[in-house]
Amino acid sequence: MTGAGSALADRLAQGTVLGAEGYVFELERRGYVKAGAYVPEAVLDFPDAVTELHREFLRAGADVMVALTYYAHRDKLRRVGRESDLEAMNRQAVRLAREVAAEGGALVAGNVCNTWAYDPQDVATADVVRAMYAEQLGWAADEGIDFVIAETNDYLGEALIGLQVSQKLGLPAMVTLATTRPAKTWDGYDYVEACKILAGHGAAIVGLNCDRGPATMLPLIARIRDQVDCAVAAQPVPYRTDEASPTMESLRAEGVDRVFPLALDPFSCTRFEMADFAVAARDLGVNYVGICCGAGPHHVRAMAEALGRTVPASKYSPSMDLHPILGAAASSQDPDVLDAWNATL
Ligand SMILES: [Zn+2]
Repeated sequence: MTGAGSALADRLAQGTVLGAEGYVFELERRGYVKAGAYVPEAVLDFPDAVTELHREFLRAGADVMVALTYYAHRDKLRRVGRESDLEAMNRQAVRLAREVAAEGGALVAGNVCNTWAYDPQDVATADVVRAMYAEQLGWAADEGIDFVIAETNDYLGEALIGLQVSQKLGLPAMVTLATTRPAKTWDGYDYVEACKILAGHGAAIVGLNCDRGPATMLPLIARIRDQVDCAVAAQPVPYRTDEASPTMESLRAEGVDRVFPLALDPFSCTRFEMADFAVAARDLGVNYVGICCGAGPHHVRAMAEALGRTVPASKYSPSMDLHPILGAAASSQDPDVLDAWNATL
């Protein structure tokens, strides 16, 4: 492979690639994205906020800066009355990602996602999706990206369109599926089978992102890893999903009308749980280990360190030995204070 494609292949050859996503969720929490539409208007309205989050993920060890063009496609922008900003938003998103990537030698990924416009029963929608991907990724390629991440694909059919558009532009693609249903894509393909088909069509990386937490994504990704020959990606959400509620959308809590997407906090994974996930995924042979909606830089740093790395933000990694109660100085504390902190009841 030569040119743009070689950067991703080279990085994969060096070992586990660490990804960090969840920009839309995190910027929503910070007040720069409106929940509901989830259009990344901040790219144009608050570019410094986007740059800052890129930089936080970079310092935490992310190997890839993903341009924030998730949901920045024509149909979504039309719905929020910003269709005229479409090109500017897409180009600017890549520029912001590139600027920060250059600070730490990270790769730059263009990004497309499920459009909500695709309908496998209506062949005309395939052309609509193809046109939206072509303009988004055309601008991204023009600005300069190393590869494409086509993600949260509910339909294999829509995922294949993202792959084809990427290939037409000469760009390698990482294509990952959403897994909101128990075993199959919305167009009826077993997730493992869908990944095999994507690999067969030349995706550089296949796998899963979003929706599932580590506990419910790992068993599925293990089966995918076993059965596909190309590189595999796993980017779960940092939420405690389980067999009864395998996705963040299906999580329920007493007294809460709807947990997803605004009341997920009590289900958050700790940094330690995400570190354990990173190691487990790597040990399964997952090549691209990441995190999706709900991610914070503390998760990413813990994952990087669990993978054996020291990253820029490691300068401020915890040193609990310096804590006045939990560290060595505890011996000089009042025993009653220590009892209150250490009581197990
Ligand atoms: Zn996500």
